[in-house]
Amino acid sequence: MGMSTSAHPPAEPAGASAGAARTAVTVTDRLVGANSRYAAGFTDPGMDARPVLQVAVVACMDARLDLHDALGLSLGDCHTIRNAGGVVTDDVIRSLTISQRALGTRSVVLIHHTGCGLESLTEEFRHELEMEVGQRPNWAVEAFRDVDQDVRQSMQRVRTSPFLVHTDDIRGFVFDVKTGLLREIDPVTA
Ligand SMILES: [Zn+2]
Repeated sequence: MGMSTSAHPPAEPAGASAGAARTAVTVTDRLVGANSRYAAGFTDPGMDARPVLQVAVVACMDARLDLHDALGLSLGDCHTIRNAGGVVTDDVIRSLTISQRALGTRSVVLIHHTGCGLESLTEEFRHELEMEVGQRPNWAVEAFRDVDQDVRQSMQRVRTSPFLVHTDDIRGFVFDVKTGLLREIDPVTA
């Protein structure tokens, strides 16, 4: 992965700030530009859709967590399922069920992290939304106070799902965004 595929431009293009007629380049435009460079150097790896390592990783969407780098993963190795908090929602169970039953994964790795945005929210967030838009969301915010306990709950939800066929290798971790290190969570509360 060379820097040439980065979506981060080195600087403002020449002339970009020439007065009010400046053309707005959106972030999506940058991503599409980066994709052109990526595709130019891309060769079909000829891979099957089934993850090579037979593992599904469920993680928070946090921008500081680079799953592939942090776990030494390569293209084709795993399924990555991400949402706010890395919460095991019904939709995550849906993805895991497809991952295991249709695409052959056997292990599940759950990764939450320090400094998660969900630690600063409460379920009051739903109430505030309802007050603002006149409709209560049908999803839980899944806010939490104790990240270790949140990981335990996630492991429990995966382990007890009736839809999954492989529940003997489920492990949960907290990723430290300051050190890059994973800390494993004991599924049993001390
Ligand atoms: Zn997070």
